Amino acid sequence: MNTLALKYRPRVLADLVGQEASVKALSNALRRAQSTGRIHHQAFLFAGVRGTGKTSSARIMARSLNCIHGPTPEPCGVCDPCRATEQPDLNLDIIEIDAASRASVEDARALREQVQTRPAFCRYRVYIIDEVHMLSRSAFDALLKILEEPPAHAVFVLATTELQDVPDTIKSRVQIYPFRLIPVGLIQGRLEAVCKAEGVTWDEASLRLVAEAGQGSMRDALTTLDRVIAAGDGHVREDLVREQLGIVPAVQVQQTLAAVLAGDAGGVLDQCAALASLGTDWVSFWKELMLAFRDHLEREARKGSPQETLRLARALHLLLQRERDLRDASLPQVVVELALVTAAQLPHLVSLDALVRSGGPASGPPPRRPEAGAAPRAAVPPAAVPAAPASLPALPVSEEELKQRCSDALRAAQGTLSRTLSSLPHLASRLSFEGGTLRFHFGPNVRNSAQELEREQANPHLISVLRAALPGLQRVALTFESAAGQRPEDVLKEDPAFQRLLQAVGGEITQVRREP
Ligand SMILES: [Zn+2]
Repeated sequence: MNTLALKYRPRVLADLVGQEASVKALSNALRRAQSTGRIHHQAFLFAGVRGTGKTSSARIMARSLNCIHGPTPEPCGVCDPCRATEQPDLNLDIIEIDAASRASVEDARALREQVQTRPAFCRYRVYIIDEVHMLSRSAFDALLKILEEPPAHAVFVLATTELQDVPDTIKSRVQIYPFRLIPVGLIQGRLEAVCKAEGVTWDEASLRLVAEAGQGSMRDALTTLDRVIAAGDGHVREDLVREQLGIVPAVQVQQTLAAVLAGDAGGVLDQCAALASLGTDWVSFWKELMLAFRDHLEREARKGSPQETLRLARALHLLLQRERDLRDASLPQVVVELALVTAAQLPHLVSLDALVRSGGPASGPPPRRPEAGAAPRAAVPPAAVPAAPASLPALPVSEEELKQRCSDALRAAQGTLSRTLSSLPHLASRLSFEGGTLRFHFGPNVRNSAQELEREQANPHLISVLRAALPGLQRVALTFESAAGQRPEDVLKEDPAFQRLLQAVGGEITQVRREP
């Protein structure tokens, strides 16, 4: 083990960073032991990823149990038993077993015999079994027998990185304490404290990079810190940290980000080519870029520019969706390039909201929207009914006459339109003509006959045939009435804003799906 990780190894439970829940529970167990004179549970299992403090905690437990002032959560650190924990190899009462290297049957048998031996000079004999999931089947059986009836002087602290590989029979005999990944902020705080204690100075962003590289492990972070302090001659330099950790220089991250934000796909590819020539680790570059993107997003959000914030959030969302591809990629550079070039196209795209609001690029000036402003978030209000433009008054005809006119016009066009259509005006339960829209209302019983019209309703020929009979006609709409009221998808299909959107993007409805 390197010097810093050893020197700043936690000595009491309170020193452990980021494991509050387990620390509290263990401290309580020790405090109870202090008042009753003996530890209630004799077997603990510390589970979690490497470098989160499991083995350190096991030694702290040994010390806490054996301190002459103990059992106590605050061992004195100066009495003989306390100091003996500093050298486990010389301490007969702390037995550290690495299950990975000692999984044999003989060892298991030896353990059973050894466990009966009383402590040499401490209160408890503490058995620390690291990577306990590596034990052989027979070793587990032996351990289980011991745990079922442990001698009063023995305490077992098991540690594992693979809790799921520990047999349930063992798990049911031990108290399990989870050891979690340590948050970056806590690791960074600890690194700063260590640097101060060591009289080491550091560049602003450098310790965060070291903390992030630790990936939740304090030990790994301290090991890296050792290296960069040595490389920087007593000062932690950001450029050296980046070099040591294979992190792309900050300026290149910023330049790539700028190219994406400017919608400069060529610039993005140039940056990627430059990074490739440096032998960049694409996964760590990606992480850096996403963090830079996030920081930019935060700045825009705080500036209070909702449109830009939304645009950036969409781009970031799009990029994060590509992250999984990157992890399994055989050609990570291509994945990064593809994702960034796609994101670089976003600035050129008009947002759907803007499209709906503008009425689309193909349909002239924006139509009057009485609800605009009152409900800015409802981009497609399902029940919106357009107000009739003043230039297109409803024809002063009765509904019967309207039906007749339409029917006649459609019958006259039988050569070019399906003959079924001419019967539909009379099959409609209601027919209205308002604001340029000829609206057919159909009851549920004519649903099938009306399908022909539903298919043809946007056919320009049909529109022009009907317009000859009804000057000012712009579109044909259908409403299907049912006992349960209008279906939401029909409401949506007839919504003028939605129609404009379809027209603007040249889209068609292929499927309507209701989401819960
Ligand atoms: Zn002590």
